[in-house]
Amino acid sequence: MERYQADPVRLYDLMNSFLVHCPKCEGSAEISVPLPFDYKNAILKCNSCHYSEKATDLVRYKPAGKAKCHQCLEFLNLSTIEGYKTIPSYVNLTCKYCKTINMVSQNWESYVEKYHESGIVDPAFGLPLWYQDTVKGNNLWAYNLRHLTEIKNYVKATLRERTTDKFKMTMVEKLPDFIKFAKNREEVLKAIERMLIHT
Ligand SMILES: [Zn+2]
Ligand SMILES: [Zn+2]
Repeated sequence: MERYQADPVRLYDLMNSFLVHCPKCEGSAEISVPLPFDYKNAILKCNSCHYSEKATDLVRYKPAGKAKCHQCLEFLNLSTIEGYKTIPSYVNLTCKYCKTINMVSQNWESYVEKYHESGIVDPAFGLPLWYQDTVKGNNLWAYNLRHLTEIKNYVKATLRERTTDKFKMTMVEKLPDFIKFAKNREEVLKAIERMLIHT
């Protein structure tokens, strides 16, 4: 019998690197995060085409708050002004009510323009995770090889030592039920093997 002894690995311990699909060639690319949760300083390097990108390159600027047309005093639609790579000194915006051109030069705020805002993606660039598959309609995914290996070892083990202490709960103990169900063990392991072949 294989015994899984829960290493005190929390999910965030595994969130220092992510294997994703390269935005240029779709090959595997590695994202490294210098400090925990420091996604703004993450760096992407493609293993196939050697493309590299910094998360700071995704920073864009847009106006903060609201502004009114100086002519008719209706609110201007500022949502059309975004995506600036540097803070502009002003932007001309035509009022949709009276067609007056307004000079917008107010507070600017930064945001990160990720590739995707949702889906099974990394938290820094929003790129699809490399390790993902489905088991009975459920998404099985891992941030990186270490994460996938941890899940594999946990599922493989028939004897699991676990804590019931919420604060000490490790990554594997928080896995969704479909991964933990004994009846799904074979299928989950097959999916993991499929993912490992494409490493
Ligand atoms: Zn590439
Ligand atoms: Zn107006």
